[in-house]
Amino acid sequence: MDIKQSVRNFGRLLLGKRMIIGKSRKELDKMRAAGELIASVREEVRRMVKPGVSTLELDQAAEKMIRDAGAIPAFKGYKAGDMSPFPGSICASVNHVVVHGIPSTQVVLEDGDIFSMDVAAILEGFVGDTATTIAVGSNVNESALQLIRVTEECLALAIEQCRVGKHVGDIGYVVQQHAQQHGYSVVKGFTGHGIGRKMHEDPQIPNYGKPGTKEKIRTGYVFAIEPMVNMGTDETEILSDGWTVITKDLQPSAHCEHTVAVTEDGPEILTLTKEQKAQRKQTIKVVETVNA
Ligand code: MG
Repeated sequence: MDIKQSVRNFGRLLLGKRMIIGKSRKELDKMRAAGELIASVREEVRRMVKPGVSTLELDQAAEKMIRDAGAIPAFKGYKAGDMSPFPGSICASVNHVVVHGIPSTQVVLEDGDIFSMDVAAILEGFVGDTATTIAVGSNVNESALQLIRVTEECLALAIEQCRVGKHVGDIGYVVQQHAQQHGYSVVKGFTGHGIGRKMHEDPQIPNYGKPGTKEKIRTGYVFAIEPMVNMGTDETEILSDGWTVITKDLQPSAHCEHTVAVTEDGPEILTLTKEQKAQRKQTIKVVETVNA
């Protein structure tokens, strides 16, 4: 953290305000490493997703990859308030499960399901957090495929808002607008968040909002942005296990998430694999050439 940032943060502490922790260059490098690791876990698990696989098998594979890399699964044992610790290394949420599904041998993926996986790890003291919704098998109906596509588009639009001078409200606004344009609703009870040494730092990043409102975005902020989009109602319920969040109308829900750093050059997605980063650079180059 540079001196200016330290002073700013200390000032906020004295004023008793909620504090967003800006990251130094060195800290960002560590967050890049954590992000790249968790992205590769996400992609490995994606390749394992097929009909007949239980969500516990996917969880165990993810945990092994995380630990083999010298990292710690951030969800495992996670406690919020008086809740029982989360037992998994991934959140495994199938169809109408919005988020926080508990991995289990009882939950076996079927052809036609949509499977949302959320996974996070702590590497050298810094957290990377990512989620994706995957079509299982080849018989997922077009309406569910569209829900996944639109949720990914919501994430891409949200990431574009992660620029110096924008506001946190701009992020939620674009997510909500895009989802609603397709007749979907956004989940209001769960949000994205700042991220760093802790998985959940300030600010909260709702998937709804008004442009130009809430916290001003500054260089060095790192956000976990995670649209949760429902096909039907935005109302949710929590099952008796205390974790599993479902849609009240049991219609499907999709969830995707990236950890994103705000840099002077714009948003940088930290939760991409090396290959994905190279591909993205290539695409940007092509776009620039076409526009030239
Ligand atoms: Mg998150």
